[in-house]
Amino acid sequence: MTEAQKTKSRETQGPDHPIASVRVLRSGRAEQHKEHRYGSRLPQLWWVFFGRSWVPLPLQCFLIDHRDGLVLFDTGIDPAIMSDRGYIKQAIGRFLLPRIFRFQLADADRIDHVLAGAGVAASDIRMAVISHLHFDHAGGIAQIPQADLLVSDREWATLSEQHPEYEWILREHIEIPSAKWRQITFEPTDDPLFEGFDGIHDVAGDGSMILLPTPGHTRGSMSMLIRQEGWRPILLVGDLTYETALLEQDIVPGTGEKDTLLASFAKVRRLQQRLPGLAIAASHDFAAEEAVSRATCNSSEI
Ligand SMILES: [Zn+2]
Repeated sequence: MTEAQKTKSRETQGPDHPIASVRVLRSGRAEQHKEHRYGSRLPQLWWVFFGRSWVPLPLQCFLIDHRDGLVLFDTGIDPAIMSDRGYIKQAIGRFLLPRIFRFQLADADRIDHVLAGAGVAASDIRMAVISHLHFDHAGGIAQIPQADLLVSDREWATLSEQHPEYEWILREHIEIPSAKWRQITFEPTDDPLFEGFDGIHDVAGDGSMILLPTPGHTRGSMSMLIRQEGWRPILLVGDLTYETALLEQDIVPGTGEKDTLLASFAKVRRLQQRLPGLAIAASHDFAAEEAVSRATCNSSEI
């Protein structure tokens, strides 16, 4: 985009309205154990092997049309995980995956096809914020080689451990030559709105997209706060919770670090108290789409 076009676009959208839209993109469905989604006192290995109740979940990412370019929050899953026997290198991973998730994926669920279905070319994505490095969030990065990929430095550090694949972080699909990874470090802030959070990162420099560390699901997981005049604020939380209602009731899922999750839940609820009407949208929550569309409709009730 030329400087003249940028100026024109800003005039159209206005200085207080840098974002034209936030859309929820669906990239397939799966089922997970009830104990995985809603938590359990039983040990994880018990429900992985003996759990008999499966519940559905959507695989979702979010598309933000910012005046500086299109931004994705997460990139979905690569359907090749189902068709390509070698997608997961380690035999233990191939053995465990179908015992943890039952995927219903089609070729149409790959991010470039999902975007095309939404009328957007994958080559037009300028940046993708990766909430965490699990394969169902970073699975589309090969389809957007031109995009900057933002990840927290804490999450990136997991890659240098001995077996990140034991945490479902598949190095061979993350450290690919085409990927333009950019590690971000959260910067301290004295803004009372973010009190309690261990720093922030302002993606566009205009306050409309603020990244916040919300560890627990993985150590470097992050959320993105979207704010714009005339809208209710939205917090995209990735997999911090599988359903907004669970976070509000302090119900932790059957995976992740329980104490860290609870600490992040408390920070998010404090943010919600400071930002009344904050819509919380989780990647695997069927309610996310409605939460986002209600927050972004220009209502006079705001
Ligand atoms: Zn996920």
